[in-house]
Amino acid sequence: MLITDLTTPALLVERDVLDANLATMSAALPGPRLRPHVKAHKTTALARRQAGHGHEGFTCATVRECEVMAAAGLGADLLLANEVLDTRRLGALVADGARVTVAVDSLETIAAATAGGVREVLVDVNVGLPRCGCPPEKAGDLASAARAAGLHVRGVMGYEGHLMLVPDPADRARMTGDAMAILVRAAEDVGGEIISAGGTGTYLDNTWATEIQAGSYALMDTAYGKIGHPFGQALSVLGTVISVSPDHAVVDVGLKSLGMDHGLPTIEGAQVWFCSDEHTTFAPEEPVRVGERLRVLPAHVDPTVALHEQMHLVDGETVLETWPVDMRGW
Ligand code: PLP
Ligand code: MN
Repeated sequence: MLITDLTTPALLVERDVLDANLATMSAALPGPRLRPHVKAHKTTALARRQAGHGHEGFTCATVRECEVMAAAGLGADLLLANEVLDTRRLGALVADGARVTVAVDSLETIAAATAGGVREVLVDVNVGLPRCGCPPEKAGDLASAARAAGLHVRGVMGYEGHLMLVPDPADRARMTGDAMAILVRAAEDVGGEIISAGGTGTYLDNTWATEIQAGSYALMDTAYGKIGHPFGQALSVLGTVISVSPDHAVVDVGLKSLGMDHGLPTIEGAQVWFCSDEHTTFAPEEPVRVGERLRVLPAHVDPTVALHEQMHLVDGETVLETWPVDMRGW
């Protein structure tokens, strides 16, 4: 099959770029040094490819991601790096033999873990991103509460998400060091062997974490493309040019097939003007024809992938495989 046979918009993954990204990352962070975050691609076929590069533990953001990973035989060591109150389906997974460790940052999330049949937790610590995570000085007490409730505390996590896109490498490294000083101090109070943190932006800066939770590196997006990491843009949304005017053209890829929170997408050899529901309007440097196919590069990988039911692994114009985005939904 050729990409001209696909119905657009269609999610494309360039096989060679993907495999180079996976190889680059597994050389930098081999085996358990990386716990790939599956929320970036939501696709068990891609997670299996990451496992083939030596990473057997995975990070998930939702209960459903854990369920689908376990059903695919990839549930040997899942970290749900998120707070969860409704743990009923997690307990069922653990009972079925999956290993699921859950982030906790309150007495309520500890109680939910215990009630749901979860056995292992990490204490989630706020290292500067105003999102989940307990105040660092509370981490030790939460660990004691978790142990008193019968949970095994494997260590800490602390996601420095506010630093991922800091453009200057020296600034990013220094700020990561400051954030991780908080986490390392909390880890002393909590105990356990895991310090889980980091992402694509800080995968090399963060030398304090025992494991890095990067996800975007595999497929990449144009926001991450700006910070100079050695990962290529594997992901695009294939579109069809549906209208051509003297000074602009329109492709059938719009807000409903692109994650837009990191800004406009990019089209090579063109200036993107704006996106609407089903359209991206752009000014091409060279004339384009109605019916022409082109690749639209998203600015943010995770919300883009979550909008699509499948992704097509391609080599140039050839479609090699079609993978269901099977971890979608809740
Ligand atoms: N860990 C957590 C908890 C996250 O929310 C994210 C992304 O938002 C990541 C890790 C790393 O992701 P990325 O590779 O996109 O930086
Ligand atoms: Mn993201």
